[in-house]
Amino acid sequence: MIPAQFDYQVPGTLEEAINLLAQDPDGTKVLAGGHSLIPAMKLRLAQPQRLIDIARIRDLFYNHKTAYVIAIGATTTHYELESSDLLRNICPLLPECAKSIGDVQVRNKGTIGGSLAHCDPAGDWPAAAIALDAEVVLAGPNGERTMKAEEFFVDLLTTALEPGEILREIRIGRPQGKFGHAYQKAPHPASGFAVVGVAASLTLNADGSCSAASLGITGVANKAYRASGAEAALIGKKLDDAGIAAAAAKVCDGVEANGDLYASAEYRKHLATVHAARAIKAAASKAS
Ligand SMILES: Cc1cc2nc3c(=O)[nH]c(=O)nc-3n(C[C@H](O)[C@H](O)[C@H](O)COP(=O)(O)OP(=O)(O)OC[C@H]3O[C@@H](n4cnc5c(N)ncnc54)[C@H](O)[C@@H]3O)c2cc1C
Repeated sequence: MIPAQFDYQVPGTLEEAINLLAQDPDGTKVLAGGHSLIPAMKLRLAQPQRLIDIARIRDLFYNHKTAYVIAIGATTTHYELESSDLLRNICPLLPECAKSIGDVQVRNKGTIGGSLAHCDPAGDWPAAAIALDAEVVLAGPNGERTMKAEEFFVDLLTTALEPGEILREIRIGRPQGKFGHAYQKAPHPASGFAVVGVAASLTLNADGSCSAASLGITGVANKAYRASGAEAALIGKKLDDAGIAAAAAKVCDGVEANGDLYASAEYRKHLATVHAARAIKAAASKAS
């Protein structure tokens, strides 16, 4: 399919992009890697009159680290995050999640900001962002605002971005102490998208009990969510097989699971429980 006709503009700075967007926020779409937007345009599910290509704004492509914070520019590609040796040491969930996305072409062009802004119910980054307690920085004509990633994901393909705003940065508190991360995913055999994906971030006390647990789940519901019941079941516990299974059994508590031709709602819940147990076990073994 061929997309409907559109104008195309390439700003050199974020400020320029925000000004261009302000001229027609409803008829304009921001273009990053294009790996979700362009297919939607080809199918005529999206018909923006104008695209503003932010992928060439150098100031949006970075991952900076301080002792306490990792700051990632919105147009940083999946590949860039997958291939960072430093991130593999200080926040392994980022490269582990990145490498599970699509194929090499998708990872070379697709961006973390585009993935979060697209809010695909089967996208991988939203689960990792929740498990890492990430914050997103949104820039618009009235300045910037920051919010928890969890609050940023509103519903299916819907975020808290207001018309005229651009997701500028993702901020993650640098993991401290005896921490372990893992991402476990059941990929769709055709696209690689998550039928179910579970991101786990755990911190252990010196005696091996769990002092903090954060679990982000994607693929199951309309949007990625935090599995609060499962997290609570892990805190203060030794992470043996029985404890992990009991916590994993709670990952879909209170959640309305989606079903489709490939996976029914019941099967998705089953996959979520199995992959949650695997993710918790893998994260715990890396932390100990
Ligand atoms: C074959 C294939 C396989 C894939 N497999 C996977 C997979 O396994 N897992 C997975 O998670 N994803 C997968 N994807 C999706 C891929 O990761 C996309 O790159 C990602 O979802 C969107 O990022 P993008 O940079 O391409 O955004 P774009 O397609 O450019 O934009 C997507 C949406 O976000 C908006 N947007 C983009 N950046 C910003 C910003 N900074 N601020 C505000 N709005 C913004 C756009 O306006 C648009 O509405 C796959 C895609 C393809 C084509």
